[in-house]
This record gives sequence, structure tokens and C-alpha cells, in this order.
Amino acid sequence: MAAAKPVPPGAVIGVLGSGQLGRMLALAARQLGYRVHVYSPESDSPAGQVSDVEIVASYEDQDRVRAFARGVQVVTFEFENVPAITSRTAAELAPVRPDGHVLHITQQRLREKTFLRDRGFPTTPFRRIERLDDLETAILELGLPGILKTASFGYDGKGQQKVATAAGLAAAFAALNGSEGIYEAYVDFEREISVIGARTMTGEFVAFPVFENRHENHILDVTFAPAAIPSALAAEAIELARGILESLNVVGLLTVELFVTRSGRLLVNELAPRTHNSGHLTLDGCVTSQFEQQVRAICGLPLGSTALRRPGAAMANLLGHLWIPSTPAWTAALADPDVKLHLYGKSDARVGRKMGHLTIAADSTDEAVRRVVAARHRLTAIG
Ligand code: AMP
Repeated sequence: MAAAKPVPPGAVIGVLGSGQLGRMLALAARQLGYRVHVYSPESDSPAGQVSDVEIVASYEDQDRVRAFARGVQVVTFEFENVPAITSRTAAELAPVRPDGHVLHITQQRLREKTFLRDRGFPTTPFRRIERLDDLETAILELGLPGILKTASFGYDGKGQQKVATAAGLAAAFAALNGSEGIYEAYVDFEREISVIGARTMTGEFVAFPVFENRHENHILDVTFAPAAIPSALAAEAIELARGILESLNVVGLLTVELFVTRSGRLLVNELAPRTHNSGHLTLDGCVTSQFEQQVRAICGLPLGSTALRRPGAAMANLLGHLWIPSTPAWTAALADPDVKLHLYGKSDARVGRKMGHLTIAADSTDEAVRRVVAARHRLTAIG
């Protein structure tokens, strides 16, 4: 087969999904001179607002998917719960990057963890749960506490419950509501990190510095880079990510979320075949942002430098509760001239909804975290 040709600036990039990741991807693509068509069931979406064309249609509508794919030179996604049929149909008419099989594996926790385990990548011990018996056996084999998660469509802790005692087992199983589940041993981790790797059609691989992530109520709260881990462990995390991107033959970006255990071991928690919330600090903290890197990788351009511009960078998420009872005080947050504000164009601020984020690059990681968190605090400080 002839090597795929690069998709040059001026061409049209098609994006499945139209949330904030698509929005920031579209902005990066436009800076490079591409046009962007987004496809999702949402109208006036975060990505649609900044794209050339916003197609509002169901992922199941194969005629509309065909029309969308006919109008673009390459298709990517910003949301992994796009049905497999959608990427298959699109792939008849335009290259889909990463390929649909990457989407298929990573959109279901059981397939993802089985893939990782079978290829020797370290991951949390897990068992498949279809019946209450399965959960009883899993608890005998893996012990308590553990986490019971729905196998599909879970993110930000949705569809997850901690199982602490055998008495809580039936209630946890009932909450699966008939969906297939996965029971994982609870990892008493020291910290959570992530690696975002990019890979091109020719196998070139580049990773961003390792990010360290702090969650609140299972939702990412603050990320900083570089992670506060020894450089040998950071190198190991990046090599692990390289191995995963290679075995999935990813063309594009893939995020690997990892636990660092108290004994200094790495365990893969989750994969995302796309840009990631933890990579938002690359927008202002790195020479190339994760969104520009995604464009470069899927279009066959050389990958950009992932070096930090300053010694430390940090990001604080802005969730919907900050809008209650009134709009956040933007001026107060931006009083620090190094703080950058990114808003996603969402009009309906609900508790827990990701509305935007703040980033900063500074002389150290500690300083970056301190200043970005202080700026966020000023958004709602009274007086
Ligand atoms: P997930 O949706 O699987 O990424 O989980 C969201 C968050 O829940 C993770 O970032 C962790 O903070 C926590 N979590 C998930 N799985 C486990 C586990 N097996 N052990 C401990 N904490 C977990």
C-alpha cells in the first residue's frame, strides 16, 4: 500500500464530537490554516461555535455521516463514545485517525483493561461482572475495598461506586442497573499522573512532560507539570505510553492515565484516544499545545516540541458551581497577568459541568499551582 499523503493546511478536518476538546482542536487547526467541520447531535456547541461548519445530526444517521465524511480530508474524534458504526461508515470515505479499532478498545473499560493485561502492560487487577455471583467471586479473589464501574460510557467517576464491605455488595450490584460491570481492586495510590503521547503515520512518537493530576469528587481539579516524581519514573511512564501507542498503532493522540502506587509502581488506570483535560496546561505552558499536536499527528505534519516554556505549568478547572449564585469575577482572576482564561462557550452552568479552565506558566511547579489556584479562588471571593 502506498504511504498515506500528508493532509496539508487548507484542507478540511472533520471532528466527531463537539465539546470543549473539539473547540480547542478547531482553534488550533484554524491557526494552522485548516478548515473544520464538526459533527454531533448538539447545536451551538463549544466546537461548533468556532468551526466552519457545524453538522447537527445523530451519530446513528449513516447518510449524514457519509455526507460529512465526503466533505473532509481526514476525520478525528474528540469524544470516544461515538458508536463504532459511525467511524466505520466515515472510514469508507476518509481516513479516520486514530483508526476505529482504537476507539472500539478504549470506549469500553473491560476491552481496554483486557487489551492492556494481555499485552503485559501493568494495570489494576479487575474482573468482569455480569451477575451478583461474579461480584462475590471477584471480592474473594481481589479483596475489599474495590470499585465497581459500569463497563461502558463512564467518565469523571460517573457510574462508579466504592465497595467497602461485603454488606454493601448487593446495593452496588443493583446500581449497575443491568449493565455489564467491572470490579477493580482499590488502589491506595500515592499520586495520579497522565502521559499524552502523539504518533504519526510513520511511527514518530513524542510525549508531553508527565502531568500530575488532583481530583475532587472524581473530577479533575488541578494539573501541574512536570509531575513531582523521580525522572527515572517519568521516563518509565513515557516508555509505557510509547508501548501502548505502538501496540494500538495509534495515529493521533492517546492519553494514558496512571496511578503511582506507594511502592513507586506504575499502574494504568485508563486510556483516552484523544486530547485530555490534564493536557490543557500545554496551551500556555508548552511550545506546542496538545491540540496543535493532534492536528499535526493526524495530518502527517512533523510533530511539534513538547518542551515547557517555563520550569513549571499548572491548570485549574472551572466547574459550573463557580457560576452560582452569579457569574465569576473574571477581572479579579486575571489580576495576575500571567494567568490565562479559557472558556468553552457553554451557556448553561450546571454543578460539575466543565465550563472552562485557567492556566499559568511560572518559575516553578509550586508557584504555578499556588498562583492558578489563587486566581480561581478570586473568582468567587466576596468583597
Ligand atoms: P476513572 O473514571 O476510571 O478514570 O476514575 C476516576 C477517578 O476515580 C480516578 O482518577 C481515581 O481518582 C479514582 N479511581 C478510579 N479507579 C480507581 C481504583 N481502582 N482505585 C482507586 N481509585 C480509583
